[in-house]
Amino acid sequence: MKVRTRIAPSPTGFPHVGTAFIALFNLCFAKQHGGEFILRIEDTDQLRSTPESEKMILDSLRWLGLDWSEGPDVGGPHAPYRQSERMGIYKKYAEDLVDQGHAFYCFATAQELDEMRAEQQARGETPRYDGRGLKLSKEEVARRLAADEPHVIRMKVPEEGVCKFNDMLRGEVEIPWAQVDMQILLKTDGLPTYHLANVVDDHLMEITHVIRGEEWIPSAPKHQLLYKYFGWDMPELCHMPLLRNPDKSKLSKRKNPTSINYYKDIGVLPEALLNYLGRMGWSMPDESEKFTLAEMIENFDIKRVSLGGPIFDVEKLNWLNGQWIKALSPAELLNTILAWQGDRQKLEDIAAAIQPRINLLSEAVNWAGFYFNQFPQISKEQFESKKLTEEQVRMSLQFAIWRLESMFTWNNDTVSQTLMDLASQMEIKLRDFMPTFFIAIAGSTSSTPVMQSMVTIGPDLTFARLRHALEIVGGPSKKEAKVWEKLNESLKLPKNDAVDEA
Ligand code: GLU
Repeated sequence: MKVRTRIAPSPTGFPHVGTAFIALFNLCFAKQHGGEFILRIEDTDQLRSTPESEKMILDSLRWLGLDWSEGPDVGGPHAPYRQSERMGIYKKYAEDLVDQGHAFYCFATAQELDEMRAEQQARGETPRYDGRGLKLSKEEVARRLAADEPHVIRMKVPEEGVCKFNDMLRGEVEIPWAQVDMQILLKTDGLPTYHLANVVDDHLMEITHVIRGEEWIPSAPKHQLLYKYFGWDMPELCHMPLLRNPDKSKLSKRKNPTSINYYKDIGVLPEALLNYLGRMGWSMPDESEKFTLAEMIENFDIKRVSLGGPIFDVEKLNWLNGQWIKALSPAELLNTILAWQGDRQKLEDIAAAIQPRINLLSEAVNWAGFYFNQFPQISKEQFESKKLTEEQVRMSLQFAIWRLESMFTWNNDTVSQTLMDLASQMEIKLRDFMPTFFIAIAGSTSSTPVMQSMVTIGPDLTFARLRHALEIVGGPSKKEAKVWEKLNESLKLPKNDAVDEA
C-alpha cells in the first residue's frame, strides 16, 4: 500500500503557520515512506472561503518548499481537488446512508432547535440534538420531502457506550458516544458539511494517514462511524499537538503574528521557518538544531513527536534564522536580500511615494527605511495628542485592527475607506485621527502618506505594527475588549437620526 497523506486547508483567512506545521509533518511522513503528499482545498463553508485566501495559502506553502504532487493547481488522478468543484459527489453518499438506515432526514427549523437547546439548558443539560428526526414515520418523511420542506441529513450515533479509536501518537483514545452529536452531513442547501466531504474525499483520494491538529480529536468518532457505515477502511489517525504562545495559550494572532506572510515580510528564510517548525514537538535523533527539509525527511520518525504543546517563540525563530543567514556566503546573502525585497512593483511604489520629498538620492534611505523594517522605533509619548484622549488613541488602533483584519481586498480604496469610515464613526476629524497611524506604521508623523504605505507594506506587516503600537499605548483588558467589540460593531450601524431622516 502506498502511503498517501494530505493537507486540507480551509481558505478562510491568512495562511497560518499552523497549516505549514501540519503540512510539513504530512510531507515528511509521506516522503519517508516513499509515498505522496497531496493538497486539497476544503471550501465547503462558502460564506467564509475566498479565492484570495486560497491563493495566499498555496503561495506561502510553495514559498516554504512544501511541494504537493496533486492539488487544485497541479491536477492529478483524483481531480478536482477543490471541494466546491466536487459538490455533485457528496449528496449521493449522504442519501445512501439514509437508505441503509445510518442517517435520517430532519425537518426541524432553526427556531425549533433553539427552543430545544433552551429547554435542555433550563433543565441543566448540555444542549445537543435530541434525535427528533428519528421519530418521524417513513410516510411522514416521504410526504414532507414531496412537499419540498427544507431539511438536512444527520448521521445516527449510538446513544450509549464508548467510541475507541487508535491515534498514532496517543494509542487508544476513548470518547463516550454521549458526547458525540448526531452530526449534520448534508445541509438545507444540499451541500455537505466538513465531516461528510472530508471522509468521502479522504476515501476517494486514497489517503492512508490523516495527520492533523489535535483540535480535530472530537471529530474522530464521527469519522470512524462514517467509515464503518460506508464499509470503507479508515486511514490511520495522528493528531499533532497545537502550537502555543510562550504563555502556553493556543497560538493566536493577538499574542504572536501567525501569518506565514508576516515571517516572509520580516525576512525569515523559508528554510529557517521550516527548520523551526520541524523543531515543534520533534527533534533530530542527534538533537541538532539546524537541519534542512531533506535531512528532516531522511531522519523522520513520527513516533518522535512529543505531545507537550510546542512553544512557537519568535525570539528563538529569529535566532535560528540568524544561524541560517550566517551560514550563507556574502554573495548568497546579497542574492537573498535582493530576492527578498525584489518585488519591482513594491519598489516602484516606494519610489513614487518618496519622490516629492527628496532632493538627493541619499535622502531616500531615511524616507524609505520604514518600508523595510519590522517595527519602527516608537515610544508611548509619541502617541500623546492634544486633540484625542488616550482612550480614543487606544480604541482607534484596536478598532482599525479588527476592521482591517476582516478585509480581504487590500488596496488604496479599501484601506482608506475603512480608516475614513472609522474616523467619522468615532466622530474624530481625519487630521486628528491619522497621526496615531503615521507613528504606528512609519514611526513619525512626517512621512509618506500613511494609508498608501499600509498598502505598500501589505496587510501582515501593517497588522503587526498596529498591534505593536497598541501594546505600547496599552491594549484593552479582556473585560474592556468585550465592551469595545460591541462598541465597534454599534459604530458601524446607521445612526438613529440618520434612519429618521431617511
Ligand atoms: N479543513 C480542515 C482544516 O481546515 C481539515 C481538517 C483535517 O485535516 O481533517 O483544518
